[in-house]
Amino acid sequence: MKVSLQEIDLPILSEHKVSLFLKREDLLHPQISGNKYRKLKYNIESAKQQGYKTLLTFGGAYSNHIAATAYAGKAHGLNTIGVIRGKEIAKKWQENPTLKLASENGMQFHFVSREAYQDKNNQEFLETLKSKFRTFYLLPEGGTNALAVKGCEEILDATTAHFNYVCAAVGTGGTLAGIINASHENQTVLGFPALKGDFLNQDIRNFTTKENWQLQNSYHFGGYAKVTRELILFINEFKQETQISLDPIYTGKMIFGILDMIKTNQFKPNTSILAIHTGGLQGIKGMNNRLKKKNLPLLEV
Ligand SMILES: *Cc1c(COP(=O)(O)O)cnc(C)c1O
Repeated sequence: MKVSLQEIDLPILSEHKVSLFLKREDLLHPQISGNKYRKLKYNIESAKQQGYKTLLTFGGAYSNHIAATAYAGKAHGLNTIGVIRGKEIAKKWQENPTLKLASENGMQFHFVSREAYQDKNNQEFLETLKSKFRTFYLLPEGGTNALAVKGCEEILDATTAHFNYVCAAVGTGGTLAGIINASHENQTVLGFPALKGDFLNQDIRNFTTKENWQLQNSYHFGGYAKVTRELILFINEFKQETQISLDPIYTGKMIFGILDMIKTNQFKPNTSILAIHTGGLQGIKGMNNRLKKKNLPLLEV
């Protein structure tokens, strides 16, 4: 399976004498795009080896991880259960493109209130899930665990070793931890959190001992899944100029951040930057439904 490196050609790059390449992980697989495929790979192998027949995991109604788990389960002959945040969604999940597709791929849903969802890692909550669904292989929210990090180490290889910087969007930090582990000492890994959260540094440290990385905390646009008119217009303009679609939750914020750092001279001339396009494009439909209600411009597809 080959994922290509694509050079981005924009005036601002030549003006500042830096190069920017995208690793197109979004093209890895038509349905399980990007890093969620990497994160599931060794988990599915482990679940099957241990004889599990069912995967159970957690997510919000627009979650790329929920979409990917449903598809991967179907492809590997495993049942899937999605514990979804928001009891009110139980009545109208068919209107949600992510959940509709997950259901078509065989996922069974268990909707829980936002309060109950907050306690999803408590032993008591797990016991209620066990009594309801019996035995299952548990994947945490966002799919991050040691095997997921191992899968994400494969994002970097010999073709990416010469870049000065490697950039990726951060949700739980599992993807970034894998990239850090696979990076060379003379590379700097930059994470662009898609949410506000001081806990991310520590979460990433749980999976890596290296120090050649930092988080850029000023490009979350107000928080997880929050978007602004400026961000939407930026993503549409980037698409017009490069023909590359970005998602509004993760990769759009990261590329906005990288270009802003270039504009403000935070990279020296002759720096080469690799940005990982982690995918997430399945979420655009759902986001456009929400943008319509808010009278904001829509993402072009
Ligand atoms: C989930 C996701 C991320 C973040 O991955 P983490 O390992 O949770 O940090 C980045 N980009 C896309 C498109 C994603 O779906």
